[in-house]
Parts: sequence; C-alpha cells; structure tokens
Amino acid sequence: MTLTVSLPDGSERTLPAGASAADLATSIGPGLAKASVAALVDGRLRDLSRTLPDGARVALVTRSDDHQDALWVLRHSAAHVLATAVRRVRPGAGIGFGPPIAEGFYYDFAVDEPFTPEDLEEIEARMREVTATATPFSRRRVDRAEAEALFADDPLKLERLAEIPEDEPITVYENEPFLDLCRGPHVPATNEIKHFKLLNAAGAYWRGDENRQMLQRIYGTAFYTRKALKARLHQIEEAKKRDHRRIGEAMDLFSVEEEVGPGLVCWHPAGARIQMELRRWIEDLLARRDYEFVYTPHIANEALFRRSGHLPNYAENMFPPMVDRGPGSGAAAIRLKPMNCPGHCMVFAARPRSYRDLPIRLSEIANVYRNERSGTLHGLLRVRMLTMDDGHLFCTPGQVEGEIFTCLELVRTVMTTLGLSYRFDLSTRPHSGKRIGGDEVWDAAEAALVQALERSGLDYDLDEGGGAFYGPKIDVKFRDAIGREWQGATIQLDFNLPERFELEYIGTDNRAHRPVMIHRAILGTIERFTGVLTEHFAGAFPLWLAPVQVRVLPISDAQQDAADSVRDALREAGIRAETDARSETLGYRIRDGELKKTPYLLIVGQREANEGSVAVRARGAEKKQIVMTAGEFLARVTDERDSRALAP
Ligand SMILES: [Zn+2]
Ligand SMILES: [Zn+2]
Repeated sequence: MTLTVSLPDGSERTLPAGASAADLATSIGPGLAKASVAALVDGRLRDLSRTLPDGARVALVTRSDDHQDALWVLRHSAAHVLATAVRRVRPGAGIGFGPPIAEGFYYDFAVDEPFTPEDLEEIEARMREVTATATPFSRRRVDRAEAEALFADDPLKLERLAEIPEDEPITVYENEPFLDLCRGPHVPATNEIKHFKLLNAAGAYWRGDENRQMLQRIYGTAFYTRKALKARLHQIEEAKKRDHRRIGEAMDLFSVEEEVGPGLVCWHPAGARIQMELRRWIEDLLARRDYEFVYTPHIANEALFRRSGHLPNYAENMFPPMVDRGPGSGAAAIRLKPMNCPGHCMVFAARPRSYRDLPIRLSEIANVYRNERSGTLHGLLRVRMLTMDDGHLFCTPGQVEGEIFTCLELVRTVMTTLGLSYRFDLSTRPHSGKRIGGDEVWDAAEAALVQALERSGLDYDLDEGGGAFYGPKIDVKFRDAIGREWQGATIQLDFNLPERFELEYIGTDNRAHRPVMIHRAILGTIERFTGVLTEHFAGAFPLWLAPVQVRVLPISDAQQDAADSVRDALREAGIRAETDARSETLGYRIRDGELKKTPYLLIVGQREANEGSVAVRARGAEKKQIVMTAGEFLARVTDERDSRALAP
C-alpha cells in the first residue's frame, strides 16, 4: 500500500501508506528532514508527525524567521511551554487562550495574584528548563467524555470544549507534564524553542468581555535565530522610547482625560497644529485631483443606517440611539454616524446623475463615532471619536481603473513625502458565502485593480479570497523608522451600497445604471496617523509639520527687541516662530528647545543684533552653528517648508 503526494515544484512522490510529513522530508533528503518543523498539507498547517492523506499537496515548512507559518508553529509551541512553566510556579493556574500573534505569543491564566516582573523572570527560567530537553509535543484525538475528564478542574477549558461542534474532532497536545486542549500544530519537540523572551504581563478579560473574569496575560516572543530575537528586542526598546503617549506628553500635543471619557482626545495647541497641517495638505492634494468637498451630519435617523446595512451588521460598534423630539420626528431614534458613506450616498442621490457627471469624487475630513471596547483603546491609536480623511468615488465600471490609479498615485505622494516605505495587498473575491454581483462584475473589477497596480509600476501581494462580500480592495501597509508595519490607506470597491441606496446614473444608452462606489481613506484616521507619525519621527517632525518651527533666543534682555523682530518677520511669512526670552541661561533654553524637537533655534547676541543676522542651530546638527542674515534664513526655512522636506 502506498500514497502519492505532490510537492510545490509540481513533482510527485510515492511513500508507504501511513507515511508522515517527516517521512516525506527524510525521503527527499537528510538536510530537509533536519530543517523542517511543520508542513502545509493542502494549504493547512500540520504537525510533521501526522500521516499524509493520499493525493495531498504538501509543502514542508522549514525553520525561518521570514516565514509566517514557521514562526506561527514556533510561537504557538512557545505559548505551551510558557503554560508548562507557569504551572510549575503556580500549580493551580487556570488556562485560558494561548495563541501566536503577529509579533510573538501570549497565554492567559486564571491566577489569584497578578504576575510581577520577578515572577516573569522565574517563569522564563522554568521555560529554559523545559526547552533544555527534547520533550515531544504529542497529539491525541479524544472523545468528549475523555476531554471533560482531562480538564475537569479547569472551567475555562470546559467552556471552550462545550463550544466545539459535535462533528469536529477534539484534540489534545501534551508536552509532559502539560496537557492542553488544542488544535495544533506544533514543532516536533520543546528543544526547538531556543530564542525566546517574556515581555510583560497585563490583565485581560476572559474572551475580551469586560463582564467576564479578569485573567492575567503574559506576552512573549520567539524566533528561530538569536539575531532575529535581538533585533525584535531592540525594536521593542525603541518603540518604548518613541511611545506617542510619552512624546505627546513631553511635547504637549494632546491628552485623553478620564473625566472627558475614554478614547476621546483633546488636541492641545501643538497637536492641533499638526492635525491642521495634515488636513490642509490632504485637502490641497484632493482639490488638485478634482475632488469636491461636502459636509454631512454627525447624527442621522436610525433608518439611514438600517438602509446602509450598518445597523444590521455593525450595531455593536455604534453608540446607542438617542430620541429625536423634533417636530414631525415621531420621536424617531437618531444615531451618531459610525461612517460617512451613507451621507455621501445621499449627496449622490439628491439629484439625477448622468454619465457626463461621473466620476463624482466626494471628500469629507469628518468625525465618526465608534463604540470601541474600553480595553482596546490606546492613546491616539485607537479612539472613539475618529477623524477620517474620508472619500467616496462614484463612477462607471469603465472608470474604475482610472480612479484606482489616481488613488494609488495619491498614496504614493503621501508615503514618499513622509519618507515611509510601503507595499500593497490586493484582496480578491471571497471563496465562500454570498457575494454581491455576478462573476462578470468581479472579473472586471479585479482586472481593473490589477491593471491600475501594474500601470503604477507598484509591487503588490495577492490575498486571494480576502475581499469583503461587497467588493475587492487594495490595502496599503507601510513601515515606520523602526521597521514596524502599519495598516495604511484602504481603497475598497463597493457593489453593495449603490444597490441599497438605489443609486443610478443615466448612461449613453439613455437607461439607468448603477454606479460603482469606491471608499478610500488615505491617512485612515488623523488620530492614528498622527500617533504613528509621532513614533516614526520620534517627535522630530519635519519642519512643515513641526508645531513650533523656529525658536528665537536672545542671549540677554538687550537683544530681545532684535529677537522679536526676527520672529515677527518669520511669522509674516507664515512660519510658526516664537521668542524664548525667559530669564533662564542660554544653555537651559537651548536644551529646552532641543527637548521639544524644535527644527531651528536662532541665537541672537549683540553682534547679530547689530548686523541683522542670526546664529542658526538646526535640529540634529549638535553644537554646529551657522551665522547668516535673517533674510537668508527666511528664504531657507520657507523653501524647506514649501517643499515639505524631510530634513534641512
Ligand atoms: Zn495550543
Ligand atoms: Zn465609506
């Protein structure tokens, strides 16, 4: 008896029946057998030790810090090792979820006392004991009764168990003595996990539900190489230094006050200047691309959101209704808007449209309101009142490619100006479930997106089947200065809302047609984007974004008038300049200016005052000072601002 599998290069291999992925690797070569940690069997990640089904497509997953599947099994296994170690330190600990995540893994524990930093050290030491020997991760199928007996003293596991559908197999994984209800897969044995680190512990509600019990979550990370682990730990250190909440406090950019409410941002003058610059920039870019600007209400009848589908599908993210007592309202319920799309559809629908009017590009930098769980809120990165640079394009199917192309060009302009590297993900039609629109509609839409991407000369990754039921989309991912990847702009095609709102235009054939709708936000939300930029630049914003661009420092009182007139000339040219004539030493005031990351400090002594010059200290140039006339400096600084240069 034999079985035959196909390999990624298209070749086939025949093995004895009952052979595992590990046997397959050995049959190919000892090098591959040694390097493999798991296998993709018909696209699903599996243990090396599992028997291969006849006819399967098999790709061996080898140790690599660049391969998401390889990291996934390693980190999932590291989570089990963490739980093994926690049980040694706290034998009674209940076990919640322990998944791998983008940058590492975590495990949730039901324990009486939160974990201290000393506990983490001890747990990590116990983990090293576990990984010092090669204890296999062994998989076993059990029936429900056996599983219930195995986890009888762990109510969290029993709750999970009860949710596994009757027809789904129940499996446990054991790395002696730790046993977990788990789907797997895992690396072959515990000694595979060599380069790991526990990072921190925090309270986390069971299943993210604030009405349930509080568990203690331990975060860690793991890699296949020491080098990758070191790089990640360095990145974490850098990220702490750059935390936008810390920089925001030091630079007085914004605050989030309990008394105002969680997730609600007060922008202070310095932060508001950054927001204002971003808005002006975006509006200017859009105006040059024939966008039109609209304003739509922040509250609207519930009926609008029922029609748009937000209430049936998105209600948990919306704030509860308010009662409208207005005349003729019939005491209808009104809601804060979670998105701008319904309002923009109403603008489109407000008058008859002809193909000659299309494309219609509507833009609104607007606040939307989302009832995010308080546990998920985080500084500027996740808030409840969001400012979106929102836009909706309405066009004919034939115009989709051109419109997408313009959106991509806009993304490129924004990313390049800010010095961010970026890439694109194209998500195509979902494989299962109900889709809006026939195959020919999807074929044309996906082809248009591909053509636009290719015409832009931009690289993109394909997420096949990753699109929403109502249309394909392009996501932008960008990297910050310390290598972290962020979700950026989204360009989403939508065949659904035009249906729901019965949007129409009269075509060349004199008949009514549905327009295609494109949702696009380039910055996403201004809150989050500002938070990310603050961390990317570590507060040292390029001149055009800097809240204060120039500080003028008279050496003594005798030069204050001269300093003020330099400042006034700068302000006249629209430069954000201030005089710092506090009765502190010059050294103190220079340090303060540097601490606030001011792009330019201008020192005015008696000689400069007499000659109409300034001694210029550019940010980052250390003690180097260049003396120039006030006029020369003005020309330089306005040029730097107008070109939105990243550095002097
Ligand atoms: Zn597991
Ligand atoms: Zn939208």
